[in-house]
Amino acid sequence: MRINASEVLVIGGGVVGLTSAIALAEDGHRVRLVSRDRADDTTSAVAGGLCWPYRIQPQAQAVRWSLRGFEVLAALAERPEETGSRMMTGTMTETAASSDDALTAWYDTVPGLRQARPDELPAGHTTGWRARTPLVDMPAHLRYLERRLAAAGGTRERRPFTSLKEAGEEAGTVVNCSGLGARELVPDPQVQPVQGQLVVVANPGIDEWFVSADGGASDTTYVLPQPFGVVLGGTAREHAWSREPDPAVAEAIVARCARHFPALESARVLEHRVGLRPARTAVRLAAERLPGGAWCVHNYGHGGAGVTVAWGCADEVVRKVREAPAR
Ligand SMILES: Cc1cc2nc3c(=O)[nH]c(=O)nc-3n(C[C@H](O)[C@H](O)[C@H](O)COP(=O)(O)OP(=O)(O)OC[C@H]3O[C@@H](n4cnc5c(N)ncnc54)[C@H](O)[C@@H]3O)c2cc1C
Repeated sequence: MRINASEVLVIGGGVVGLTSAIALAEDGHRVRLVSRDRADDTTSAVAGGLCWPYRIQPQAQAVRWSLRGFEVLAALAERPEETGSRMMTGTMTETAASSDDALTAWYDTVPGLRQARPDELPAGHTTGWRARTPLVDMPAHLRYLERRLAAAGGTRERRPFTSLKEAGEEAGTVVNCSGLGARELVPDPQVQPVQGQLVVVANPGIDEWFVSADGGASDTTYVLPQPFGVVLGGTAREHAWSREPDPAVAEAIVARCARHFPALESARVLEHRVGLRPARTAVRLAAERLPGGAWCVHNYGHGGAGVTVAWGCADEVVRKVREAPAR
């Protein structure tokens, strides 16, 4: 294939790749997105969809990206049927991670976010936060992003790349949003899976979200009402690769959530979901020249917060593509 020097080739059709591709196409670039999997088969399609910085490093940057994500997703929430994003009130109980100074900017800036009163907290919790944040129906949101990319003139193809060099032979600029796939594609052994299991049940009347998640714990408790059912979570198992739901884990998730919302105990189970978060010691958002000469911007390793930070990271991708030094 001949190189198209003016084209930007985005690898990855999850939330990070689609959002980056849209930002680039709307900035006037000619964009082609190539992904190995259908959007429905990505980690992004599994995500609970809460806009909150969780399990992502470095935290200071993640908070900055998250605030930008909040702004964009809140605006999209004005058209929930079309975009999949909705504003919803909920409670985040105090966690180990939240006492981190880096999150102060998040607590200070999110509109209306405040300390929860004791009567707003579940038994056993003494501190927490109340906030109205975007909650994103991910399958619907990914379909919206695909339509928005097409409207901006971007094209899509479905096939795998075996190396970045191969991608660099097709376009002058490559944007690498391959998530966990970066482990082999780059290759980057620093990218590791953090497996998450969820249970989707029929909604017994819950209209607020609830999260009790310690940043480093392997079992979390969250209840996220979506139009297709209530998403119950969850787990965060480092280095676990299986995408098969474990029935015992599912039972324990429902039991944990039912402690806070007893009606969930008998709610009809609609679906089990397992996804692998693309975790890394730090998100890789950096540019380099590939051996064949193409300019490559990496944007992967967003752990448990890819939905939250996607728009903030996409802004940086656009800057890094614009700043490509002449060859
Ligand atoms: C259970 C669970 C709950 C979560 N909840 C939330 C939440 O509430 N809020 C939040 O912000 N985040 C959440 N996350 C995290 C979020 O899902 C991820 O951070 C995000 O989906 C990562 O997006 P991505 O586009 O980088 O990766 P992916 O969605 O995995 O997409 C990677 C893309 O790269 C493509 N690809 C990979 N390798 C190649 C290759 N060699 N050639 C071509 N294409 C390739 C794939 O086909 C795919 O299209 C959750 C994750 C899980 C598992």
